[in-house]
Amino acid sequence: MDFIRLLHIEPTNMGTSTGNEWLTSYGSEIQSFTPVNGSLIATVTATDKEAYEAVVHKAASAFKIWRNWPAPKRGEIVRQLGESLRANKENLGKLVSFEMGKSLQEGMGEVQEMIDICDFAVGLSRQLYGLTMHSERPNHRMYEQWHPLGIVGIISSFNFPVAVWSWNTAIAWVCGNVCIWKPSEKTPLCSIAVQKIVADVFAKNHVPEGVSCLVQGDKTVGEWLSHDTRIPLISATGSTRMGKALNTAVAARLGKCILELGGNNAIIISQHADLDMALLGCLFGAVGTAGQRCTTTRRLIIHESVYETFKNKLVKAYQQLKIGNPLQPENHVGPLIDKTAVQLYLHAIEQCQQQGGKFIVPGGVMEGTGFESGCYVKPCIAEVQPNMPIVHHETFAPILYIMPYKTLDEAIEIQNQVPQGLSSAIMTLNLREAEAFLSHAGSDCGIANVNIGTSGAEIGGAFGGEKETGGGRESGSDAWKAYMRRQTNTINWGTQLPLAQGITFEL
Ligand code: NAD
Repeated sequence: MDFIRLLHIEPTNMGTSTGNEWLTSYGSEIQSFTPVNGSLIATVTATDKEAYEAVVHKAASAFKIWRNWPAPKRGEIVRQLGESLRANKENLGKLVSFEMGKSLQEGMGEVQEMIDICDFAVGLSRQLYGLTMHSERPNHRMYEQWHPLGIVGIISSFNFPVAVWSWNTAIAWVCGNVCIWKPSEKTPLCSIAVQKIVADVFAKNHVPEGVSCLVQGDKTVGEWLSHDTRIPLISATGSTRMGKALNTAVAARLGKCILELGGNNAIIISQHADLDMALLGCLFGAVGTAGQRCTTTRRLIIHESVYETFKNKLVKAYQQLKIGNPLQPENHVGPLIDKTAVQLYLHAIEQCQQQGGKFIVPGGVMEGTGFESGCYVKPCIAEVQPNMPIVHHETFAPILYIMPYKTLDEAIEIQNQVPQGLSSAIMTLNLREAEAFLSHAGSDCGIANVNIGTSGAEIGGAFGGEKETGGGRESGSDAWKAYMRRQTNTINWGTQLPLAQGITFEL
């Protein structure tokens, strides 16, 4: 594989790093199989406890140096990282596509998101603003400052093997933190490639060892991070099951969390929608990344007057989907991450049928030449009742549930009645409907769109969701504040010391 060679990765016994240094570790073996053809592409050694301790020590000492670099200087390092990612975009994009299974275009898109967040963070490095307040006391000044937290632990999911890290790290670094990344055990090679790119930039700029750390492993290593009192903030992306366990551990030590968990995203298709535009949004949202995005469209709530028309359009579009090797640009749908994911997909189809769902586009596992990995499945559509238990559950696969509605209030009620609250959308050209959907009585999600689907998001906005999605926000807007601690400062420049509540001492 040319791109693996060009990224200078040696995919054996490497995985634990503090920047330029790669630590020896005697943890278990992590094997990375590509779902594209089922072959083994890397064997990485998980971080053992000794190597983990060495990493945390290095990170803690690096923080003492890094926090004193001026924020714009830290921004300059992130700018150079963005440049290096531009230069490596094609190879890293191919690796993402190969190890994770998303289409090449989406792999490249993921690297572009890394570049975009670097650009954003560079500007942010000069805008870590605090407020000033008027003191109630004479000759006093009050203001607030934002200081870095220390070590930020980043636990990421398999489906965005590189972008999730960058959304956190680029911001955390300009804020003055150091980072320890534990990627998904399903995509270790992508993390090693990223660490190599970072290490080159850091070496050129004499960034201390420990600012960018990498550990490998499954949930055991994730638990070391979540229980570690030396790590004030854990940013975790993954399933709601993981988030609940992790949040409990971090809360028990009164640490901070940013949680980016599961979604169950719906699009409301109004009778006032541009149906052709809606079709595009729904199709991309439902089958992109083979249904393995947190923002994947899983439910369509369609007005009864356009239900049959829209359903027929959808079925026709699904019949034209090309399933196959994601590195070939003519294919629309690649594989699921592994055979366990295929089993979960089949189980959800069975559950849906048992609960009364009717498949109008049937699912199934692809067989034959080109599908030897056993991970390619057919995107499918089921007509359902909104209260069926399976419809309230996030199955990380291309299964789309469709259901009719009569009134907008009913549609919003259906949209909000699932436990997750990440992304949502309405397709309508009616201003009143659009505003009602975005109002305080409308969508309860962290992301609510009009005439754009649920899938994906621009890095300029704060990204995240409510309820079982975890409540965290990453990326743009003022999400940076979660990576810093606020300090309120009062300075007395007068000659008197007025005490609070008018208290006086006769001395
Ligand atoms: P997962 O929960 O299986 O694993 C995610 C990460 O958490 C992995 O690195 C894993 O090793 C680690 N982990 C698992 N249990 C842990 C524990 N108890 N303590 C500490 N770490 C633990 O998720 P996945 O299958 O990799 O990813 C798919 C899920 O991620 C979906 O639910 C998807 O919606 C969600 N996701 C959410 C967002 C978002 O921004 N909201 C983005 C991407 C993915």
